[in-house]
Amino acid sequence: MHVTMVKKRLASGEPCKKCIEAEDLLRSRGVWGRIDQVVWAIENEPESEGMQLARRYGVEAAPFFLVDEGGGDAVPYSSVLRFMREKLDGKRDALIPSTPSPAVEVSIADLVSELEGREPEHVLRKVLATFGRDAAIAFSGAEDVALIDMAAKTGLSFSVFCLDTGRLHPETYRFIEKVRTHYGIEVETISPEATELRAFVRKKGLFSFYEDGHQECCGVRKVAPLRKTLLGYRAWITGQRKDQSPTRAHVAIAQLDPSFSSQNGALLKLNPLANWSSAQTWAYIRANGVPYNELHERGFVSIGCEPCTRPTNPGQHEREGRWWWEEASIKECGLHSAAPGTLSPLHK
Ligand code: SF4
Repeated sequence: MHVTMVKKRLASGEPCKKCIEAEDLLRSRGVWGRIDQVVWAIENEPESEGMQLARRYGVEAAPFFLVDEGGGDAVPYSSVLRFMREKLDGKRDALIPSTPSPAVEVSIADLVSELEGREPEHVLRKVLATFGRDAAIAFSGAEDVALIDMAAKTGLSFSVFCLDTGRLHPETYRFIEKVRTHYGIEVETISPEATELRAFVRKKGLFSFYEDGHQECCGVRKVAPLRKTLLGYRAWITGQRKDQSPTRAHVAIAQLDPSFSSQNGALLKLNPLANWSSAQTWAYIRANGVPYNELHERGFVSIGCEPCTRPTNPGQHEREGRWWWEEASIKECGLHSAAPGTLSPLHK
């Protein structure tokens, strides 16, 4: 069965609210991975692919689903609930069932041991073949785009998200857009929860991290949104490398995530570039014409939020450009904490 979801994009460039709700519902039921392809019906572009499909199948409004079971023409479903009831019930992939069990750990343990020591392309192909769109690449830096490039070349489905803290450089926003258009992919940009952010800024202002450390701000702008986002996936893929900092010296290629979980319990975390050096990563980027942040041309190496990132000099370690007013041992923002709910000083 091949399922195409047609989503509507408004003339303003925003996705329609109903499409977002439909996707949220599919994710919350653990069946988002059953969608093989997403096509856009663009409101003011009658010849966009989704608008053409709507005309062809006589469907008035997105979202709708086209289900092709290999017998000829696809069958349209304009109700997400009917589509789920008739086509998806009981078909959830059992690798990570809703109730964690010893069998789950065995499955993940097998995958972890199979992937250790493998090249990044092999890791990505295996993970995407297993999880499809339920595996998401967390995109922020150059390494992550190398992974997107490798993932795109597999021809398999995958998801990409990016944490928009609201404090990124203008160049970084342009970079995100460049990656989205270069690969023709959807990049889900995740904002902090508005109520929590408003309360934090009202109480602490916009630059409290220079006074009492970055972890509270990173907690609101990065960690909490990430925790919520990862509930909707079964595996996430990062660009962490062992050589990025002493805090990452033990990064594994594949592991059961010690800090975050999916809504079904177990969450697999992949770091396919763990054993690559910075030089290897940049050689891949240049050889494959992978887009990168223009700030790299101006001496920035590890790029995070604008107030917390500065260029480094030749010979300085890349992480010296991040939170430079703090101890090197706490230069992690909580995205890769060692234990649930903690902002470990030992990991990012
Ligand atoms: S990197 Fe700086 S601005 Fe960004 S979330 Fe962390 S403390 Fe806040």
